[in-house]
Amino acid sequence: MPIKLVTTVADLHSQSAQLLTDKNGTSQGLVPTMGALHEGHAALARTAVEQNDVVVATIFVNPLQFGDATDLDRYPRTLDADLALLEAQGVDLAFAPSVEEVYPGGEPLVRITSGRLGEKWEGASRPGHFDGALTVVAKLLHYGTPGAGLSAGKAVDSEGAPGGLPAYRAYFGQKDAQQLALVRRMVSDLNFPVEIVGVPTVRSADGLALSSRNRFLSDDEREAALVLSRALRLLEERAKAREPLDLESAQTMVQSQPLVGLDYFDVVDPDTLEPLAENCRETPFRGEALALIAAKVGPVRLIDNMPLSS
Ligand code: AMP
Repeated sequence: MPIKLVTTVADLHSQSAQLLTDKNGTSQGLVPTMGALHEGHAALARTAVEQNDVVVATIFVNPLQFGDATDLDRYPRTLDADLALLEAQGVDLAFAPSVEEVYPGGEPLVRITSGRLGEKWEGASRPGHFDGALTVVAKLLHYGTPGAGLSAGKAVDSEGAPGGLPAYRAYFGQKDAQQLALVRRMVSDLNFPVEIVGVPTVRSADGLALSSRNRFLSDDEREAALVLSRALRLLEERAKAREPLDLESAQTMVQSQPLVGLDYFDVVDPDTLEPLAENCRETPFRGEALALIAAKVGPVRLIDNMPLSS
């Protein structure tokens, strides 16, 4: 089916409700994105299409989560290509609102606070980033609620008891591990009625995690950036082999690449993102952890991560 594009919340509600009715659907999936879509986003969309009767993707470059106005201005915008990619995955509806549609009263006074979990790692070098990201994710999760455009009577069964409410799932990439952890916490701490589904990171054949910002890398910088995924793979192999992680040698490997300015590279608890204790890194690896890395390569800040398990 051809994808439908809507730009207002009212149209999103009426069109998604219509689709649910037409398809006799019992589930709706939401895929929030900032556009400039690539195979990583396609994986999110495909997973959502596999798991839901109706799928809505959102395309919105959220000014609230950009500290730097230049970064916001130069963020790539490729709507036609994005719609084609989403349609090819079977997405029903694309919601691409204006900034005024999402923030009709200007910047919101009241926001979601990401708390301690939002202050470390990416949050440390991008103050306010996660508050802005969670605020828009909260709004998008509300907009995408299935049945929001149905008349009240349709969300209850004939006896008037709550029933027949469609399942609601939202899809986020493991690539942005801290964002995924924060969205999971927001949804559980604040009781959002939605299931959050994490989708594994999609990489190019040489290992580089796909990102809309990779297009700003020169050939040399792109080559240099491969050291991030190589270092993560090294830790993954050591973890699988139940060897000591020896994080320091992996850090040295990244630091020895002259075009790469390492910001952080650590091994953390996958839920709290607190660094593992020193002794866990030096003894043979057991259990579950997450390796997080961020670096500046040329003009681009790159992040990547790798789940570790043995
Ligand atoms: P963005 O448009 O960059 O805000 O990303 C939208 C969603 O796509 C987020 O949930 C990201 O985590 C996810 N995403 C971005 N890149 C990848 C990737 N390489 N693999 C999997 N998911 C990704």
